[in-house]
Amino acid sequence: MAVNYKAPIKDILFAFDVLNSYEKLNKIDRFKDFNKDITAPAIEECSKFAEEVLAPINADGDKHGAQFNSGVVNMPPGFNEAYEKFKNAGWASISLPVEIGGGGMPYLLSGGTLEILCSANMAFMLGPGLSIGAISGIYAHASQEQKDKFLPDLVSGDWTGTMNLSEPQSGSDLNYLTTKAELKEDGTYKITGTKIWIGSGEHDLSDNIVHLVLARVPGSPDGTNGISMFIVPKYIVNDDSSLGARNDVNCISIEEKLGIHGSPTCVMEYDGAVGYLVGEQNRGLSYMFTTINEARIRVGGHGLACTTGALQGAAQYARDRVQGRPVGMSQEDSKNSTIIDHADVRRMLMTIKAYSDAMRYMMYDNQMMLDFLYFGNDDQKKFGEARVGLLTPISKSWISDLSVELTSMAIQIYGGMGYVEETGVAQYFRDARIAPIYAGTNGIQALDLTLKKIHIDEGKAVSNLFDEMISVSNELKNSERLSKLNESYEFHTKNLIESTEKVRQLFIDDKQKSISGFASPYTKKFGQVLGGYYMAKAAILADKKYNETGEEFYKDKITLSKFYIEQLLPLSEIYTPSIDSDVNDLFLIGSENF
Ligand SMILES: Cc1cc2nc3c(=O)[nH]c(=O)nc-3n(C[C@H](O)[C@H](O)[C@H](O)COP(=O)(O)OP(=O)(O)OC[C@H]3O[C@@H](n4cnc5c(N)ncnc54)[C@H](O)[C@@H]3O)c2cc1C
Repeated sequence: MAVNYKAPIKDILFAFDVLNSYEKLNKIDRFKDFNKDITAPAIEECSKFAEEVLAPINADGDKHGAQFNSGVVNMPPGFNEAYEKFKNAGWASISLPVEIGGGGMPYLLSGGTLEILCSANMAFMLGPGLSIGAISGIYAHASQEQKDKFLPDLVSGDWTGTMNLSEPQSGSDLNYLTTKAELKEDGTYKITGTKIWIGSGEHDLSDNIVHLVLARVPGSPDGTNGISMFIVPKYIVNDDSSLGARNDVNCISIEEKLGIHGSPTCVMEYDGAVGYLVGEQNRGLSYMFTTINEARIRVGGHGLACTTGALQGAAQYARDRVQGRPVGMSQEDSKNSTIIDHADVRRMLMTIKAYSDAMRYMMYDNQMMLDFLYFGNDDQKKFGEARVGLLTPISKSWISDLSVELTSMAIQIYGGMGYVEETGVAQYFRDARIAPIYAGTNGIQALDLTLKKIHIDEGKAVSNLFDEMISVSNELKNSERLSKLNESYEFHTKNLIESTEKVRQLFIDDKQKSISGFASPYTKKFGQVLGGYYMAKAAILADKKYNETGEEFYKDKITLSKFYIEQLLPLSEIYTPSIDSDVNDLFLIGSENF
């Protein structure tokens, strides 16, 4: 009855083609030989691992959860054995640079592996995701000595990493962060304070845990300009890399949560712990953004993974469950029919499947732009930086919001059995619910998009993307099978461009408060239309492939793109009245009257 997860290998490989990723990545020196002969076996291997090792312990991980016992956190049954296998297979570091012992694959590929591994077991994958973030932060900003000391064991997965930003009074707003870092005579710092909600802050999977901690050196400026970043290991690392004394950092409790029970969310007490300053004092927040930005893209991946996992369960159930005579079918013909024959169930399945494709293309594209940012030449880096900046708040928020809606829709397909834990689909819904919240809430993403990212290079970054979107309109127009789709595609794309011009103008006129009133609806509109862009590209490629091969897979891709562009893309219009509204209307009712 539980979801029998099988990785959608063909869809994932098709997504790499839709993004024209081989040709694009081959232009980056270190990926000049990157091709399908590399991605296909990697995705297949990863699928086997996910299906055989991670998926079987997903439900148990949810049921038992991580357990806190006097400062020690024990992971759920099977997690320790699975982590050993995960580490040894190299999945922890597949896309980290070879220079530090990683697999050297593009980030694009780890978009695919992330989807597969998280669909199989999102809670298990959160710890390794946080480690990758810590590694990126150290690799980009730490001294050579610090890199030599901490990176090898983090990259191998023998140690794990965390990111410590949040404090009780300082969540979205890090201006109020109070954890203190006092310089000692030996050049290290004494870290004192409480951090909350720290993912994998304590566990029994690895020998050491390396915390990246934001703290304030006394006398630093107020606000975010006075925050520095520190490495604080659970065990002090000796010069010969052996582990020394236990540091004064402890987990004092873990949270009871709605989902991701297998991932310990920890309250961490820093009681004069030894910390090492990374880079320059007071530049900590900008350093931590290397970690946070990657985390945001991965959170979109969490949403995608929960959605595609739930879709599989719902489709399996809908093919088996016998119930009701489909409208228009005779009693005789309906004898063997199952709920997948009902138009309404079909509509739900089509909606989830079409959105899943759009989400996948968007998230993978965002990952591929990290390859340009990190490994490109100067021009490629510049392009990558602007595009990562622009795509990240959209993909993080659009995908994660949708994942909650779509995993809920998957429950609906099951009917009553969806509400019963034994089917496993409810877990996808509960696990997905964190994605719109962590790594910066979706409300914060919307402000980031509307008050910063669409103004990058005086709007050139966003207008470059719009040029690409418009050029796809020309391709649709010239296609015999797809030209009809262009009417909806072109209309909604132009409409988004118009809304964007409005936001840009309000920004130039210094009307930030007006923008804050519709930042979220605008961001949703952007996601919905950008999803249409990827689906149009998919249709164009699928059409070509279908003409060449006649394969049903490509016909289905055309059908899904058509469904999206004709029936889902127009939903972008529901946000326009909000974009045209007055922010003051939101404040007409007194706070106490809600
Ligand atoms: C399971 C879990 C794991 C986590 N993992 C980590 C981790 O590993 N490391 C870490 O440091 N933190 C972690 N967090 C913390 C997480 O990133 C924060 O919960 C999140 O950033 C939101 O902060 P907050 O909860 O304080 O909400 P608040 O900041 O109090 O926000 C509450 C609401 O107000 C809105 N809001 C707040 N400020 C604004 C604004 N300026 N404009 C518009 N709306 C606003 C928000 O969008 C939200 O809807 C985790 C949290 C959870 C629940």
